[in-house]
Amino acid sequence: MNAVVRPSIAKLKPYSSARDEFQGDSAIFLDANESPFETGVNRYPDPLQRALKQRIAVIKGVHADRIFLGNGSDEVLDLIFRAYCEPGVDNVIILPPTYGMYKVLADLNGVECREVLLTPDFQPDVEKILRMADSHSKVLFLCSPNNPSGNAISAESIERLLRGFAGLVVVDEAYADFCIERTLLPRLAEFPNLIVTQTFSKAYGLAGIRLGMAFASGEVIAVLNRIKPPYNINNLTQRFALEQLADTSLVKQQVQQLLEERKKLSTALTTVPWVDQVFPSDANFVLIRVDHADLRYRQLVEQGIVVRNRSSQPLCQGSLRITVGTEEENTRLLQVMRELSA
Ligand SMILES: *Cc1c(COP(=O)(O)O)cnc(C)c1O
Repeated sequence: MNAVVRPSIAKLKPYSSARDEFQGDSAIFLDANESPFETGVNRYPDPLQRALKQRIAVIKGVHADRIFLGNGSDEVLDLIFRAYCEPGVDNVIILPPTYGMYKVLADLNGVECREVLLTPDFQPDVEKILRMADSHSKVLFLCSPNNPSGNAISAESIERLLRGFAGLVVVDEAYADFCIERTLLPRLAEFPNLIVTQTFSKAYGLAGIRLGMAFASGEVIAVLNRIKPPYNINNLTQRFALEQLADTSLVKQQVQQLLEERKKLSTALTTVPWVDQVFPSDANFVLIRVDHADLRYRQLVEQGIVVRNRSSQPLCQGSLRITVGTEEENTRLLQVMRELSA
């Protein structure tokens, strides 16, 4: 996969920080122009987040040297563009309706973004995607489970794309915790062009600390490490994440609870007269098609409930995306929805 790296990145001499040049313990650190006075955070963080990666390696069952951490998975996605896509020359392929950041990052990086719509049941059109690719197609973004539709992409399609696409295939698994049986992590070694991204922002309840992950071959991880901002994961984030990840049993229990709630909510939504369709979900949200999305969105806001209006997305005409909340929140949502006239 080193063949797809941008020439300027292949040649780049990375910044070498004080913490890169000396690792280990010492009584006296006078190498980084830090303040010697204790504040709890007066020292720069570990640039490679070794302790945190060790813990994540255990949780995810992936070797620590196959893990890259970003300031949210959004930073990971941006670094993938910067490493592999030459502005004005290369292109990426995305499959709308999908997560909006792929297109924004392509525009921001001056990279052409080719779009191949998902099929009406929100699955990739494999043949069409492969026909759309040329020798400058460096990255294909798959989102599974997909945001905003909620469904996981079929394993067979992902496999055909991994084999048929010459560039990197990013499988964005931001919602994998709600559908762990479908994650591609166990198959990382099989596909040198696979990058799986995940995040602590959703199931783990840590959106505020900004911590995202990429899992890939050692080669890809080495490239990302060379170009990342030296201290991209701050000390507070590393420490707080380690504390939270010491015991994952509560998160597992919460995921089970949200899956139960999703089932109840999806069933109940089908009985609301102005809801025309409830799409199947493998994530912690449900996409519904309604009679008048703008009107229903406004009516819900007036009752103090904010959902996401996804009507402007292709294949999502008249649709709202609803995050699964607590039992009380979902009950209140349904009560308000039933009270609105058909
Ligand atoms: C929420 C979301 C992300 C963002 O994750 P961060 O780690 O918070 O940056 C990435 N991809 C998808 C599909 C998402 O829905």
